[in-house]
Amino acid sequence: MAQPVEKLNKPRTEWRDALPSERYQILFEEATERPHSSPLNGEKRAGTYICAACHLPLFTGEAKFESGTGWPSFMGPLPEHVGTKRDFKLIWPRTEYHCARCGGHQGHVFSDGPEPTGQRWCNNGLALLFVPEGEPLPALRD
Ligand SMILES: [Zn+2]
Repeated sequence: MAQPVEKLNKPRTEWRDALPSERYQILFEEATERPHSSPLNGEKRAGTYICAACHLPLFTGEAKFESGTGWPSFMGPLPEHVGTKRDFKLIWPRTEYHCARCGGHQGHVFSDGPEPTGQRWCNNGLALLFVPEGEPLPALRD
């Protein structure tokens, strides 16, 4: 799965027109959804979580765990499919992460997750779509 990802340079204004407002606000304005608001919190099936903007696969169902935070949480992403940056929106620095292809904001990564990674990738449910195992992944969106 670790293929290099070619970046998609699509202007925000085009994403704003293409996405429902609540998804756009999170993906391209770095908003955060209310905890416990995502139906993906309870999703436990095998499958793939893809970027809600460009459809790049970001996480497997196997990597998901119940963190109790109210946001879908993962032990780690698919290699090369997310990028990170430091975020100083709160007083202490956090590590923001985003889709490596379209740059869409997904969530923040923390170091209090379970073994073996010890990481907690805390994701906005609205930034993801879930594709159950056995269903075809949708084509990447340009
Ligand atoms: Zn994307």
